[in-house]
Amino acid sequence: MKEKQFWNQILELAQERLTRSMYDFYATPAELIKVEENVATIFLPRPEMEMVWKKQLKDIIVAAGFEVYDTEIKTQFVLTKPEEESSTYVMDSENSNHYVASQANLAIPYSETGLKEKYTFDNFIQGDGNIWAKSAALAVSEDLALTYNPLFIYGGPGLGKTHLLNAIGNEILKNIPEARVKYIPAESFINDFLEHLRLGEMEKFKKTYRSLDLLLIDDIQSLSGKKVATQEEFFNTFNALHSNQKQIVLTSDRSPKHLEGLEERLVTRFSWGLTQNITPPDFETRIAILQSKTEHLDYNFQSDTLEYLAGQFDSNVRELEGAINDITLIARVKKIKDISIDIAAEAIRARKQDVSQMLVIPIDKIQTEVGNFYGVSVKEMKGTRRVQNIVLARQVAMYLARELTDNSLPKIGKEFGGKDHTTVIHAHAKIKSLIDEDDNLRLEIEAIKKKIK
Ligand code: ADP
Ligand code: MG
Repeated sequence: MKEKQFWNQILELAQERLTRSMYDFYATPAELIKVEENVATIFLPRPEMEMVWKKQLKDIIVAAGFEVYDTEIKTQFVLTKPEEESSTYVMDSENSNHYVASQANLAIPYSETGLKEKYTFDNFIQGDGNIWAKSAALAVSEDLALTYNPLFIYGGPGLGKTHLLNAIGNEILKNIPEARVKYIPAESFINDFLEHLRLGEMEKFKKTYRSLDLLLIDDIQSLSGKKVATQEEFFNTFNALHSNQKQIVLTSDRSPKHLEGLEERLVTRFSWGLTQNITPPDFETRIAILQSKTEHLDYNFQSDTLEYLAGQFDSNVRELEGAINDITLIARVKKIKDISIDIAAEAIRARKQDVSQMLVIPIDKIQTEVGNFYGVSVKEMKGTRRVQNIVLARQVAMYLARELTDNSLPKIGKEFGGKDHTTVIHAHAKIKSLIDEDDNLRLEIEAIKKKIK
């Protein structure tokens, strides 16, 4: 039958034109009612679909028309099917099951998605450390639930995890305004759950979360150590969405295998899709980030100033942003438009003074805490034995002495049994690079830092 051939042709072309999730949203639910007198009547269950059909699929209909009918076919869109005036929203075609679930729910107002508009792919600077995470995030926003599900992004603080998560949500909503998207930190998810539980409104809770097309959960590590019942609810939500082919994206400050205090079966599920790591930006990327964050400002940041800043903060983009804010504050007060290295240095000095309590930490305090942690005595740390755990403790302590105090390198060397300052430099560099690769070590050092402060 020609009509069928015509419609198949349209769908085929639409499939090439649209991403998979766009196709599911816009093409699958549409139906060809008839072709009469060179006019095709196409049923669209939702009025918003018309835009996409008119804008992106119009020439496809024309092409299919010429191919099948050998003439120009015009189109008329209808929102009700002739035989069932009263129930516009009922659909019967087999392949649209997937769609029906979400269609029964209305779009979520942007203010309730939890998303922040300012975080987009456009203003996310790509660099060596985040290119894979960014590519995966982009892939997800092009092909909801088909490429990587779940997508799990992890990395240290201030490296853009929350930014990327929001960018996915914003990108999807740009392409598919009626997609049901929710961004929520894991901690808030738990609170939301407990609150609904308390009010006896679990059905409502389930309905909210299980009707989503895209669930973005930030900082999943905060589920660690939570009650089994809480983790259970997360587990159920995860399963319900995943088995309905709905997209889930998670972030964490550590990789799935280092999520202690989390049920094994949850951790296993996190690894079903794709896991991507974000590592700190290299110098060039930091410069690019600084450029993008300062170019729209009223202040003129000289390029050596940007280089100076990029050299000061190397492991956290949030700190770079903080430095820019401090600088513009000072510049405003002083009514300066051109930001020189001197101004930047002044602002940063003030910033570092905020954390000046750190500077009075005595080195022996660091040695004691590191020693306690690794089961190594301070004496061994000051000695020269090269047993593995002693070497590690010694290097970590030197690293922390350098990071947390303003002692000179020779002074630090001296406190470690009179070692050369190059030994301190080496230890610092070694631990610093190990931290990038070794989640465990990073977490160990964070734990030790907490003890010291
Ligand atoms: P995380 O969630 O990993 O702790 P965020 O996403 O909150 O980090 O990022 C901290 C700040 O740094 C945010 O303001 C974010 O916009 C910015 N940021 C991080 N990485 C980038 C990047 N690659 N390009 C632009 N801005 C970035
Ligand atoms: Mg975050």
